[in-house]
Amino acid sequence: MEARIGFYDRARQIFDLTLAQQALEWDQEVMMPAQGADQRAHQLAALATVVHEKLTDPAYGGLIDAFEASRDLDERARADVREARRARERAVRVPGRLVAERTEACARAQAAWLEARPRNDFAAFRPHLERVMDLTRELAEAQGMPSPYDALLDEYEPGMTEARLRPLFDDLRRRLVPLLERIRGASRRPDPAPLARCFPVQDQEVFCRRLVTDMGFDLDAGRFDVSAHPFTTGTHRDVRLTTRYREDWLPCSVFGTIHEGGHGLYEQGLDARFFRDPSGGACSAGLHESQSRLWENLVGRSLPFWSHYYPVLQATFPGVLDEVPLASFHGAVNVVEPSLIRVEADETTYNLHILLRFELESDLIARRITVKDLPELWRIRMEQQLGIAPPDDRSGVMQDIHWAVGLVGYFPTYALGNLYAAQFMERMREELRDLDERLSRGELGVVRTWLRERIHVHGRVWPAQELCERATGAPLSVEPLMRHLEAKAHTFYGI
Ligand code: ZN
Repeated sequence: MEARIGFYDRARQIFDLTLAQQALEWDQEVMMPAQGADQRAHQLAALATVVHEKLTDPAYGGLIDAFEASRDLDERARADVREARRARERAVRVPGRLVAERTEACARAQAAWLEARPRNDFAAFRPHLERVMDLTRELAEAQGMPSPYDALLDEYEPGMTEARLRPLFDDLRRRLVPLLERIRGASRRPDPAPLARCFPVQDQEVFCRRLVTDMGFDLDAGRFDVSAHPFTTGTHRDVRLTTRYREDWLPCSVFGTIHEGGHGLYEQGLDARFFRDPSGGACSAGLHESQSRLWENLVGRSLPFWSHYYPVLQATFPGVLDEVPLASFHGAVNVVEPSLIRVEADETTYNLHILLRFELESDLIARRITVKDLPELWRIRMEQQLGIAPPDDRSGVMQDIHWAVGLVGYFPTYALGNLYAAQFMERMREELRDLDERLSRGELGVVRTWLRERIHVHGRVWPAQELCERATGAPLSVEPLMRHLEAKAHTFYGI
C-alpha cells in the first residue's frame, strides 16, 4: 500500500508540473503580450529543470521499483509502471549538459529561422541547423538504442522503429506517386474557386463554434480561441483549442477547427479515473493525429457530413454560396493538387510531403547526408514525387519550424495518423452500417462514441500498434488509406 502511495504521489506531481508548462505555453501563444517572451522563457526553463530533477531523482527510481515489486498489479498499474519507467529512463540517459546545450541551440536556431526564412537565406540558417542536428544525434545516441533515429521516433511514437516504418512508407510511396500522376492527367476536375469568396470572420466564428459543439467538444471543460498556428493543449476537464481565420479562404478555419476538435475530443474522452496517472494520457503522437485527421478528412470532407452542414453554411453566409450546388462544394473541398507547402497540402499529396521529410531526417541522423545537401535534395525529391520543385528555400527546406526547434522523428507521426485514421474509419463503417445516414442527419455523436470506446478511454495502457489491432482487428496497413484515396480519385476525377 505504501509503495503504491509513494509511487503515485510522485508520478502525479510530475504530471501536474507538465500541465503547468502547457498552460504557460498556451498563454504564450494566445494571450501573452509580445514583450513577455523573455520572462516566459525563464519560467518555462525553470519548470523544465524541476521536471527533469524530479524525473531523474534516484528516490523516484526506488519508488518505481518498489511499486513494481508489489503483488497483484493489474493491467493499468503495470502500464503505469512501464510509462513512468520509460519517461524516467529517457531523462536519466541524457546528461544535463547536453539538455542545456540543446535547449539553447534550439532557441537560437528558432530565432535564426524566423529571420532567415522570409529573406530566403539558408546560408544564414545552416550553421544553426547543423548544431541542432549534431546535438539531436548526440541525444539520440545517448538513448543506447540500436539505431539513433529509433530513439527519436520512440519519443513521439513509443515502440515504432525505422525498420517497421520504412516498409509502410515505401508501400505508401509506391501507391501514391502513380495515383497522383493519374489524377494530374484526368480530364475532369473539381473547381476550388467557391472556397475563395469573401467569408466574414465573425460568421466563420459562429459556424466553427457550432461545429466543435456538435462534434461533442464540451466548452464548459475547454476553450476555443485564435492563434497564429492552430493547436490543442490541456487534457480532461481543461482542453484548449485554437483556430485561425482567413476571410478569403474558408477551409482554413473550417477544417482547422474540425482537426483541432478531433484532438480536443481525444483529450476530453480519456478515462477520468486515471487522470494524472502515467498511463492515463493519450497513447502517442500518431494516435493523436489519427483523431484529428479522422474528423477532418474522413468525416469533414464526406458527402453525408455536408448533406447536413452545407445548408447551415449557406445560411451562415447569405448570398455567398447560394448558386453553388452541394456537389460542387463537396468537390471543392476535395481538390487534389500538388503544392509546395505541407500545411496547405490536400489529403492525397500530404503524405508525400511527410515521406520526403522522413527520408531526409533519417539520412541526416545516420550521417548519410549533411545539412549542406538539404536544399538541393529537397528540390530533386519534390520534383520526383510531387512533380513540382520550389523556386526558393523558403517554400522548400525552410518552410517548417520543426527541425529548428529540435523536433526530429516527429514528422512520421503525421503520416501514421493518416494511416490509423483510415483504418479506424473503415472498421467503424463495417460495424455501423447506418453511419452515412446518421452523419447526413448531423448525428456526429455516433463517431465520437465509437472513438471514445475504442480509443480514448484506453489512454496509453497499450502501445499504439496494439491499440490499433484491438480496435480494428488488424495491424496497421496502408490499404485502408489507399482504398479511401482511390475511391475519392474515382468520384472527383473519374479515374
Ligand atoms: Zn494535428
